[in-house]
Amino acid sequence: MAGGLVRLKAWGAVAGAVVLGFAGCVRAPAARSAAGFNLLLVTLDTVRADHVGAWGYRAGETPNLDRLAAEGVRFAEAETPVPLTLPSHATILSGLLPPEHGLRNNGFGRFPEAPATLATDLAAAGYRTGAFIAAFVLDHGYGLNRGFATYDDDIPRDTVSGLDARRPGRLVVDRALAWLDEDATKPFFVWVHLYDAHAPYAPPEPFATTFAARPYDGGIAEDDAQLGRLLADLDRRGLAARTVVAVVGDHGEELGEHGELTHGFLLYEPSLHVPLIVRAPGVIPAGSVVGAPVSLVDLGPTLAGLLDRPLAAPAGHTLDGRDLSAALRRRREPSAVDLYAESMYGTSFGWSPVTAIRRADLKYIAAPRPELYNLVRDPHEAANLAANRPREAHQLAAALTGMTTSASQAASPADTLDSEARAKLLSLGYLAGASLTTKPTPGKVGKDPKDAVVLLQRFDEAHAAFVAGKTGLARHEFEQLVAADPGNPVFVGQLAELYRRTGDLGRAVALYRQAVAIAPSDRDARYNLAVTLQEAGRGDEAFAALKDAIKLDPGRPEAHNALGIALALRGDLEGARSAFARTVELDPHDARALNNLANVLRDLKRPDEAAAAYRRAIALAPSYADPLNGLGTLEVQRHHPVEAIPYFQRALAAAPTMHEARLNLGIAEDLSGDPNAAAAAYREFLKETDGDRELARQREAARSLLARVESMLSRSQDADQGGRRKED
Ligand SMILES: [Zn+2]
Repeated sequence: MAGGLVRLKAWGAVAGAVVLGFAGCVRAPAARSAAGFNLLLVTLDTVRADHVGAWGYRAGETPNLDRLAAEGVRFAEAETPVPLTLPSHATILSGLLPPEHGLRNNGFGRFPEAPATLATDLAAAGYRTGAFIAAFVLDHGYGLNRGFATYDDDIPRDTVSGLDARRPGRLVVDRALAWLDEDATKPFFVWVHLYDAHAPYAPPEPFATTFAARPYDGGIAEDDAQLGRLLADLDRRGLAARTVVAVVGDHGEELGEHGELTHGFLLYEPSLHVPLIVRAPGVIPAGSVVGAPVSLVDLGPTLAGLLDRPLAAPAGHTLDGRDLSAALRRRREPSAVDLYAESMYGTSFGWSPVTAIRRADLKYIAAPRPELYNLVRDPHEAANLAANRPREAHQLAAALTGMTTSASQAASPADTLDSEARAKLLSLGYLAGASLTTKPTPGKVGKDPKDAVVLLQRFDEAHAAFVAGKTGLARHEFEQLVAADPGNPVFVGQLAELYRRTGDLGRAVALYRQAVAIAPSDRDARYNLAVTLQEAGRGDEAFAALKDAIKLDPGRPEAHNALGIALALRGDLEGARSAFARTVELDPHDARALNNLANVLRDLKRPDEAAAAYRRAIALAPSYADPLNGLGTLEVQRHHPVEAIPYFQRALAAAPTMHEARLNLGIAEDLSGDPNAAAAAYREFLKETDGDRELARQREAARSLLARVESMLSRSQDADQGGRRKED
């Protein structure tokens, strides 16, 4: 094995050249342990190493990353095992590779229940744990929230930007700093996720101007500025000396190299080579550089090791990642090992998956057309050596097969069906589905991603046009892509989505049916088919499609919510209640589902539970009018009209055109003995709904209520006048 290794760069050589003191902190050279230190983990989405100053880039602006590298250890050759956000973060937190933790793609699956992560490990050790997330792709629904007491992922769902629904790093850091302020008594582990370098590149000022020509670098500069706020906060609190800081890119960005504009499909270095810096004052010598290639799978175990809280391997398994903390403490280079990488992204397009192995200078990519590169002589991976050096290609291919086989053995179908095993089985099924289910012809292999990437580029452009509202252009492009690759469920599904958004539900349904036929295990296609049928008022078909969608993807909260609506429309209130309750169980922050649950409970004559559900919905979304109107209605039904009035008033303040709440307000005023206020509300309701035929019944009721109140008022006026006359 040693014969194949690179000569490692001398550890400490750079440390001698760049010696920086730590402002305001005392070095403790003998300690060599960060036990009890805080941990700040900052993940920089989509940042490639060679666009950071400490990696030699001169055109960017990364003073905080560069300073951190000078104060800690810089891993010159850190590689992600997967160029996709969700699987990469699952690896960073757990020390497990994607075949082991089961998250292989964005938007699918759930992190298993059993394995320890940095969060579960440190929470068990008494740390405060908090995560602050910048994009929906890391939503708590995918299970990375385990172990975090606070998992702040408050990002509205958005069907057009989908998994890329995001919020600025500035807001994420605001939230993290506020959380740090809340409690200074315990050590903390805080994970901050920054998404400003992710496409579409739109950095805020001043970087929008400074980097007008290179907005990707502007996004990295904004990430760096936000990192700077976090570091300054540690300095201000005097915590820098007792906090391990780790900053890492989850994957890079191709920026058009090898034909890929962004990332995810291909396993070339612009996507895999990421910045990784760890600062542990007094424990890791300042200005150190590790030259040996390391994988992000090593990061979690190494951070846990530095804090003297070694990560436990799942029962019956070993961790894929290595704890490098001992080597870092002893100023030694870690030993060189083979590094694994994969992308299953292409399988969702009906294309082939790709895997890769890096052994020292050589990198082998397993694909329909295999590739072999010497990364030192050919850093741009331009000259494929696979045909010229078949012996090395064969050796690496065999080693790669060994890595993937040993990983998938861990998910033997004989395992009991706990959720961990289920997640793994699903991931295996997904792998098989890529080449077998969607391409049933024996021996037929999906397109090689490097050949299909040209279609992907056109797809990305069409999608950008769609997001920007240029639907005519987007429709033309999607139609051409479907013609070029008709077996591609993503292309067909996007065209369907476009028709759905533009109101052509019939065509959307037909295309979603086509996508489901191409890829029966495509969860998005099944779910979208079902909700489009529901939108089109095709209730029975929608009901059947929803049940199929939930069978395939039981963890999707919005599918259970849609099923609840379908059941309520069919008059099955008990079934609807159970579906809405399941939605809320899966997503306790879904105010809309809580409101639906409350409505059904009210109709089922379970008023106390209904009131509790309305209150939860109102607490989550104080200006959401529906539960305010619902709770008011419930209070009227419970003979508490006085209590009901403020709810209707708040509903109207939030939604002035909610006419039903106006009528309800009148009824509540009427029942609480204020006929003047009731008459005013009834008149207002009749005025604002004038000519509205859909509200004919309510208008009829309002007219007779108003007539009754008016006659009551005129009688009492007569009585008053009569009384006065007597006094005269
Ligand atoms: Zn990412």
